[in-house]
Amino acid sequence: MIPIDEMATFCKKKGFVYPSAEIYNGISGFFDFGALGVELKNNIKQAWWQFTVRSRDNVVGQDGSIITNPKVWKASGHVDNFADLILTTKKSRTKLRADHFIEDELKIPADGLSAKDIQELIDTNKLTYKGEEFEEIRDFNLMFQTNVGASNDKEATAYLRPETCQSIFPNFRLIQEHNRLKVPFGIAQIGKAFRNEISPRDFLFRSREFEQMELEFFTDPQEKTCPALTDVHKNTTFQFLSAQEQDAGTNKMETVSIQKLLDKEKLTEWHAYWLSEYYNWYTKTLSIKSENLRIREHVKTELSHYSSATFDIDYNFPFGFKEVHGSANRGSFDLSQHEKESKTNMTYFDEAEQRKYIPSVIEPSQGLDRLFLLMLYDAYDDDNERGNIVLKLTKSVVPIQCAVFPLLGKEHLMAKATEIYKDLQQEFTCTFDKSGSIGRRYARQDELGTPFCITVDFDTLENDDVTIRDRDSTKQVRVPVAELKERLRNLLKENIEFS
Ligand code: ATP
Repeated sequence: MIPIDEMATFCKKKGFVYPSAEIYNGISGFFDFGALGVELKNNIKQAWWQFTVRSRDNVVGQDGSIITNPKVWKASGHVDNFADLILTTKKSRTKLRADHFIEDELKIPADGLSAKDIQELIDTNKLTYKGEEFEEIRDFNLMFQTNVGASNDKEATAYLRPETCQSIFPNFRLIQEHNRLKVPFGIAQIGKAFRNEISPRDFLFRSREFEQMELEFFTDPQEKTCPALTDVHKNTTFQFLSAQEQDAGTNKMETVSIQKLLDKEKLTEWHAYWLSEYYNWYTKTLSIKSENLRIREHVKTELSHYSSATFDIDYNFPFGFKEVHGSANRGSFDLSQHEKESKTNMTYFDEAEQRKYIPSVIEPSQGLDRLFLLMLYDAYDDDNERGNIVLKLTKSVVPIQCAVFPLLGKEHLMAKATEIYKDLQQEFTCTFDKSGSIGRRYARQDELGTPFCITVDFDTLENDDVTIRDRDSTKQVRVPVAELKERLRNLLKENIEFS
């Protein structure tokens, strides 16, 4: 696996991601997505939306504003609690996120430890940073602040949202009523989130502006069974790191099934359903290798203030297994808080049961940028035999679906290739490349993940057929031009063998 810096260089060289405003040396924790990056990102979003919203009867979408009434963030607990502990070195005044520092130094989970606990660990282990001691540990709220309107008064303070989900809860009643939804149902959203991370690092993994794809799924707190939970969910098997193993410091992973977690009462049935749904979406739809994934149970100290149980889906990056997806049981925390602060009734009336209640929420939260990075890592194959990198992205998300090459720059070949290219462009994301040898052009497309290259040669002019070359197997087949679109349509569906 290439180190993260090399991945950042690769992404820049190939036009996926650039440091934001690089001509001014960028700005730490912010990135711009280039031509290929935006295509890949949009395709991942579309795949998530299709899976989460469009393929279900009981999930709808919303697109909330990034800045909202600051009372939302007071009610949610973010104004008071959304903070990390910060360590500042005495001489150079370097700022470090305290829990990450402890994790790096002592190899123990430290998320959620109190300032007192961290200070004790620093003292006991005589920890310093490059020989420097630390000032007193401070709290640092991660929300970006701004002013709304032409005023600098405290009342004008507002926040850039640090998570997308919080704009869903205030709309819960509106969306439920207008769409005549019955519990259980979900509201999903994709959008930007902002966190003033103390030390952004590892390229897209920890940035200050990122996108989240989140689902808030509302269930009846008295209903313990999930009718949607099938054997497929129960038998979903994965590498698992339990809270106990982390507490004991042994960190041994085991292979378990969702059923086993249910038997141990680690999570509710609806929680199990969604955890399994997204794990399977990763491995089946996105073809992410299961050996690179694990599910990790949160230890008690790191559970967020709203959560009774959280499981992360982690990916094995070159800097270790790290969270890409969080799956939390938020209970009725958010709706109850908003009811209290806004003095607005947030209950749901269950007509069948003739019962009023505040629903309980399961939240699968997906960071888009981390998934983007994960997919690049999982697809990246430095193929020695071919002598070039092959980005074996799953075909449903590739930035470019096909490339058209005229064998030579001769007029007739160019005219025919252009005609084919223009026709394909109506339906597929397509590129045209006429420079260099065909081998060089294949290599260029391999590096961008383009699954199919189409060569127009002299035989095309005679027989009206072309060669399609497959990225993964390098096999080539001859196809009549009249059938080209239909063949590509089929080939771009997953699991169709190239022959
Ligand atoms: P971490 O512990 O890594 O800071 P978190 O537990 O605070 O993450 P959540 O609040 O659960 O993260 O956010 C949900 C998802 O949003 C994460 O699984 C991740 O994919 C994404 N995410 C969170 N913070 C960042 C960030 N700074 N940069 C990129 N993605 C992020």
